[in-house]
This record gives sequence, structure tokens and C-alpha cells, in this order.
Amino acid sequence: MIETSQGEVEADVVVMSLGFKPNTEQFDLPKAPNGALLVNEFGATDDAHIYAVGDCALVHHMALGESVYLPLATVANKQARMMADHLAGKDTFLKGFLGSSCLKVLDYELACTGVTELMAQQAGMAVKVSVIKDKNQTDYFPGQEDILVKLVYQPETKVLLGGEIVGKKGAVGRVNALAVAISAGMTTEQLGYLDFCYAPPFARTWDVLNVAGNVAK
Ligand SMILES: Cc1cc2nc3c(=O)[nH]c(=O)nc-3n(C[C@H](O)[C@H](O)[C@H](O)COP(=O)(O)OP(=O)(O)OC[C@H]3O[C@@H](n4cnc5c(N)ncnc54)[C@H](O)[C@@H]3O)c2cc1C
Repeated sequence: MIETSQGEVEADVVVMSLGFKPNTEQFDLPKAPNGALLVNEFGATDDAHIYAVGDCALVHHMALGESVYLPLATVANKQARMMADHLAGKDTFLKGFLGSSCLKVLDYELACTGVTELMAQQAGMAVKVSVIKDKNQTDYFPGQEDILVKLVYQPETKVLLGGEIVGKKGAVGRVNALAVAISAGMTTEQLGYLDFCYAPPFARTWDVLNVAGNVAK
């Protein structure tokens, strides 16, 4: 039994989502409302002597087309390398990020990449959304599980903008495939025919991503 300000709650597992904020109080520089520093594509702040990357700065979201806060190790590492190359005089460029991230909660894999429906709403971006429930693999090999795929895409062009996948097996790998498809500017139709591999323990002849692409109208 957990005691909360809203009363007692019976629970087997408690997830504490505490959050955090960038430690940037000491910098008198342009910031986002959460304190993250505003930087250009190379991590430069308004002060020529101060560059910022990682959890203390915003980054360019390549599918949303604007700067966002993506506090991830993946982002921090790639930005840091790009910034160091740039400062060392190397001709370098990073198109931006998709915020691809993944999580394991008990038996479930959860992963997402690109623009979510909520992000699109908040940014005033018109999107279409489709959700399917399918299977991760064939039924005649042990291990078949449900898998849910949500795609977010542009209504007219059908260009993929984002995706979220939940399932006990194969969710994370498929979100990585979606990240590639989004980075390449692919459409839902192209995803529907994309040549994903198949063998009974891993997928069905039409992978769940093919199905999701074909269902998205
Ligand atoms: C519990 C947890 C799990 C996570 N899991 C994942 C994951 O699975 N995948 C993923 O992509 N990301 C994950 N992250 C996010 C990832 O850890 C961060 O995005 C990443 O570490 C950011 O790197 P950074 O260098 O910007 O900041 P940090 O790694 O926080 O490094 C900042 C450093 O600066 C130091 N510092 C702060 N202020 C000062 C100061 N005034 N003077 C000197 N030093 C200072 C700090 O002590 C720290 O060492 C996780 C984060 C947490 C907290």
C-alpha cells in the first residue's frame, strides 16, 4: 500500500518519474523555458566562448523542424563529437535528431522515434495517425506475442514523421528501422513494401512494419 497526497493506492510496482532540469542558472544566455541553452547547429551559444551540448542545451528535431529538449545519451554523444570536429576545423554537419528512445518495463519493450501525436498537436502540425495491433512473428514458432505499432505521418504526402511500438519482443529493433525510414524521408507506402527480412522466429512474411505502412491511409 502506497500513501500519496491523493490517498492510499495499492500497487505491486511503483515507478517514480521525477524529472530533472538543466543546471544552467550560472549562464546569462538565451534559454528555453526549462533552462536549456539555445544553441546553433554546432552547439554555439550567443557567447563566442561558450558552446553547449547534451542535457544542458536544445537540439534540432529533424522531423518536427524545430529545436526541442532531448536529454538522451545518444544525442549528447553525437552532438559532442560533432561539436569537437567543428571546433577542430573539420567540415562536419549533423542534420538533427529524432529523439529515438527505448525502455523495458517488466516484460515489455517500449520504443519511439520522431514526432508523436502530442508533439504534433503542441507544435500545431497537421498529422495523420494510424495504430495497428499485430503479431511479432509466426504462430508456429514459440514466442509469438502481440505488438502495437503507431505511425505518425504527413496527411498529404504520407511522409513518415514518427512511430511508437510496444510489445514483448521485437519492438526496439523495429523502431530503429523506423528511425532510418524517417531519416530517409520515406512514405508510408514505401514502408509497406520495404524489404524487411523474414524467418518464423523473427517476423511474419509481411513484417508488422509493412502492415503498419499499408494500413496507414
Ligand atoms: C537514470 C537515468 C537513466 C538514463 N538512461 C538513458 C538511456 O538508457 N538512454 C539514453 O540515451 N539516455 C539515458 N539517460 C540520459 C543520459 O544519461 C543523459 O542524456 C546524458 O548523460 C547527458 O550527458 P551530458 O554530458 O549532457 O550530461 P551529464 O552526463 O549529466 O554530465 C554532466 C556532468 O557535468 C557535471 N557538472 C554539472 N554542473 C557542473 C558544474 N557547475 N561544474 C562542473 N561540473 C558540473 C556533472 O557532475 C556531470 O558529471 C538516462 C539518465 C538517467 C538519469
